[in-house]
Amino acid sequence: MAQFDMSINDTVLAAGASPTIGLMDKARALKAGGKDIISLAGGEPDMPPAEATLAAALARIQSRQVSYGPVAGLADLRAAIATDIKSRHGLEYRAQDVVVGIGAKQVLAEALMVGTQPGDEIIIPAPYWVSYPAMARLAGGIPVIVETSASSGFKITPEALKAAITPLSRWLILNSPSNPTGAVYTRSELAAIARIVQDHTRLLVLSDDIYEDILFDGNVHTTIASVDAGLIERSVLCSGFSKGHAMTGLRVGYAVGPEWLIKPMIDLQSHLTSGGCVVGQAASTAALREAADFPAQCVKTYSRRRGLGLGILKDSDRITVVPPQGAFYFWIDISRLLGMRSPTGSAMLTDTEVADALLEAGLALVPGSAFGLSPYLRMSFAAADEVIEEGCWRLVKFCNECTLATESGSVVTELPQQFGA
Ligand code: PMP
Ligand code: GLU
Repeated sequence: MAQFDMSINDTVLAAGASPTIGLMDKARALKAGGKDIISLAGGEPDMPPAEATLAAALARIQSRQVSYGPVAGLADLRAAIATDIKSRHGLEYRAQDVVVGIGAKQVLAEALMVGTQPGDEIIIPAPYWVSYPAMARLAGGIPVIVETSASSGFKITPEALKAAITPLSRWLILNSPSNPTGAVYTRSELAAIARIVQDHTRLLVLSDDIYEDILFDGNVHTTIASVDAGLIERSVLCSGFSKGHAMTGLRVGYAVGPEWLIKPMIDLQSHLTSGGCVVGQAASTAALREAADFPAQCVKTYSRRRGLGLGILKDSDRITVVPPQGAFYFWIDISRLLGMRSPTGSAMLTDTEVADALLEAGLALVPGSAFGLSPYLRMSFAAADEVIEEGCWRLVKFCNECTLATESGSVVTELPQQFGA
């Protein structure tokens, strides 16, 4: 019998699976198999949504109104989102400028798909959220990764942006507060970026504001369209209910932008998903209208956990953590661990090898390589206090028990100069 062709689309194959989702699944499977694993790999609020939000989801089911909704989202929800954007940023979007999708993930991908021609360049500051490069390629674009460093707070500088722009540049993706670093762009930093974007007529901005509610130490979230009116026609703001309203599994996200981009996104969505789940959307409307103070309550919890984690992580001088300004991740510099051996003797030359050795030691974290910048580890602090404490202690113990095997085979615990921070 002739063998049939099992080839898979090259771009899909190259994208592979999301490493964050992959690690979350792996940690879950190891736990289910009886292994003692602390998983701080995935970034997912651990608290249930507000009561009013859950009640609205139940009411929608009880009303039996669960047939297809409008492709672009329930009218009530689109109006509530437009009102919310106005009160957050002073931006005047109409309900028809909003498209609601299945999580921020869907609308981010749709924006890139409708605005990108084959071969267009998509500028992505690194470290980046794991799915941006895959989404860029799936949209037919070419990701242009611009590395940032601790010295700029892991934010793209105007100089680095300027240097990355070519005639093929189509999108700049901004994510503030950032996953994985927690970096928050200030108004003046965004104004400087906006001026550069304005000089390039083909360049659009995709602003991923999904962590907008989760801020610490008085940091303030600003979206780029609000600092420069000239950018309103050329930027898409994406956000959703997964993080601030702890609704990851209800899968509701949205994009707001100019009609010339939002309209084709809605048309595209009519082919891809026929719109989001109406139960989740009813819950989201209630989240905005009846549980507006819920995110701030959660931030109090995250803030306590952030302090708890930072207090423990300082017990190893082999790692460095800058307190995150927003989101719920520690971005941990592990340059001093490279070249060492793990407590069980595995050689660790990359952050992926460190993450593998840590998993063996019972702690699941995501290596910086997944976010395009090494050597780092990302640790979520969206977990119960005792889970964070135990996870942080495991990391500290692991770091302090690493050894450096010299060529002669003897073991030292001090590091040679080149691995020092
Ligand atoms: N953007 C970033 C930066 C994220 O961390 C996430 C969460 N995985 C998303 C988008 C997608 O969120 P959603 O659950 O709404 O699809
Ligand atoms: N936002 C989370 C993370 O980055 C969830 C997983 C994902 O969607 O990537 O870990």
